[in-house]
Amino acid sequence: MACKKCKEKPVITLPNNNISLCKSCFIKYFEAKVRKTVRQYNLFEKGESIAVGVSGGKDSLTTLHVLNDIISKQRTTKIIGILIDEGIHGYRDESIKTAQKYCDENNIKLHIYSFEDEFGYKLGKALKILDINSCSICGVFRRYLMNKAARELKVDRIATGHNLDDESQSIVMNTFRNTMETSARLGPITGIQDDKKFIKRIKPLYFLTEKEIMTYAFIKGLTDNFNECPYAKGSLRSEVRTMINDFDKKYPSTKYSIVNSFLEILPSLKEKYAGSSIKICKCGEPASNETCQACEYVKRLKNG
Ligand code: SF4
Ligand SMILES: [Zn+2]
Ligand SMILES: [Zn+2]
Repeated sequence: MACKKCKEKPVITLPNNNISLCKSCFIKYFEAKVRKTVRQYNLFEKGESIAVGVSGGKDSLTTLHVLNDIISKQRTTKIIGILIDEGIHGYRDESIKTAQKYCDENNIKLHIYSFEDEFGYKLGKALKILDINSCSICGVFRRYLMNKAARELKVDRIATGHNLDDESQSIVMNTFRNTMETSARLGPITGIQDDKKFIKRIKPLYFLTEKEIMTYAFIKGLTDNFNECPYAKGSLRSEVRTMINDFDKKYPSTKYSIVNSFLEILPSLKEKYAGSSIKICKCGEPASNETCQACEYVKRLKNG
């Protein structure tokens, strides 16, 4: 099958409509899709500064690469990288090198914040003390630190590499757990209400699949590090991912259907949970209770 647009040799068959594209037509398609998402959901405006949450993996480097391209044409917007080092031995060390190399080559300032400096514990040490799901504590610490770092660095938006696969998994996971208030915080631009303490998060790759991002990152030579976090295996997310991928093979467009039907109800969900009041923890970060979840974990870690 030749490229649908120019008859060159194809590099990918798009998952939702069975169209094959060559290298250059695919890159145009991919970047146009990011631009459309930025425009349609007003992810950022001219003059706003953006921090990309960089992990060194394909999703975050692709986000950084495409945004830097869009932003450098707008000239007025600043872009930086923030990397959160959880201290995952043998995994994070490699990805830090990849992220630093990319940022150095592209004149982007990379700011690194670590769990150890902020909370006093690397992830592995924390998991030895507390019998707890690795992604739960890691997710809480990551979100806390990313928000704090973005505020310290005075940026207007945090861009993440979340894609269509991630979003469809989160929607299904929240449905399975009956945590719809958490779902109300999903979408291409997140946050239930405007609050200066919360830096809004944007997802420019929202409508792109993992397969498309992997192809783009490979063609652009952004990273050859496709390693997965060693704690990812056996998590609910990884089971849900396998289930959705199996469905998507049998019934193409399943991921699009999950995300698109969710987007139809998202405004009502946001409206329903908009009243939840935001408190400020003694550490200065926003929280839904008197003490934020990160401080709760640190307290439990100190008590052993
Ligand atoms: S997979 Fe879980 S433990 Fe690993 S980096 Fe992601 S949230 Fe943290
Ligand atoms: Zn082509
Ligand atoms: Zn706190």
